Amino acid sequence: MLKELIDKFYLDGQKSKEQHHFYVTDAGRCPRSIFFKFKNVSREAIEANVLRMFDHGDYIHQMIMKPLLGIRDIHVVASEINIPAQEIISGRADAIISSGKELFVLDIKSMNSIIFKNLTEPKPENLDQIQLYLHYFKIPKGILLYVNKDNQHLKEFVVQYDKKRAYSLIEGLEDLKIKIDKGIVPNRVVGYPRDWQCRYCQFKDICAIAGGENIKWSDFKDRIELREENIRTV
Ligand code: SF4
Repeated sequence: MLKELIDKFYLDGQKSKEQHHFYVTDAGRCPRSIFFKFKNVSREAIEANVLRMFDHGDYIHQMIMKPLLGIRDIHVVASEINIPAQEIISGRADAIISSGKELFVLDIKSMNSIIFKNLTEPKPENLDQIQLYLHYFKIPKGILLYVNKDNQHLKEFVVQYDKKRAYSLIEGLEDLKIKIDKGIVPNRVVGYPRDWQCRYCQFKDICAIAGGENIKWSDFKDRIELREENIRTV
């Protein structure tokens, strides 16, 4: 009884809303999936257990912040802090901390034991995100702190600001914005369909029928609507 009610709570709270601007978490992500979010294409629902895992990630952040707020050698300058307002991207860093000598942007990530065990360097998508935080906060160093969800072990990597990488990510998003405005569905990611993003993508089905290359959104939208109509009438 409770299982069904709890699942329903999570599933009902899931909103399929249109995206209007980029988030830092979009950095380096599949441009096509972001395009579909901007166009509010109907997507596969996320399962209730996955939504609970997102909530669990929030608790892990709180757990990490608790000692940081109590350690004398570290000063938490700000937590849950939005990047400065500008036109293209919004996002919120977990914290900015100070060692007394220098500032760091802190980004906390959690993962299961298997991924954690094999982690010898930061994940590329996490590097992309922290580069944007470093860029917009104008702070030259960051820390990616990884938490093993199963046993609470930690790993950390200090990251230096890489101007070239940050600008390339911003240019990628600016290019995608042009495609969104002009109605051009971007290519699939290079590693399709084995790329990790494809495995968890809510637009897998739609992407499969779109083909691999750039296509016009106005033509493809008609195909999607026709497909949805057919599904409803079956
Ligand atoms: S299935 Fe892969 S290539 Fe297609 S939209 Fe999703 S992430 Fe992008």
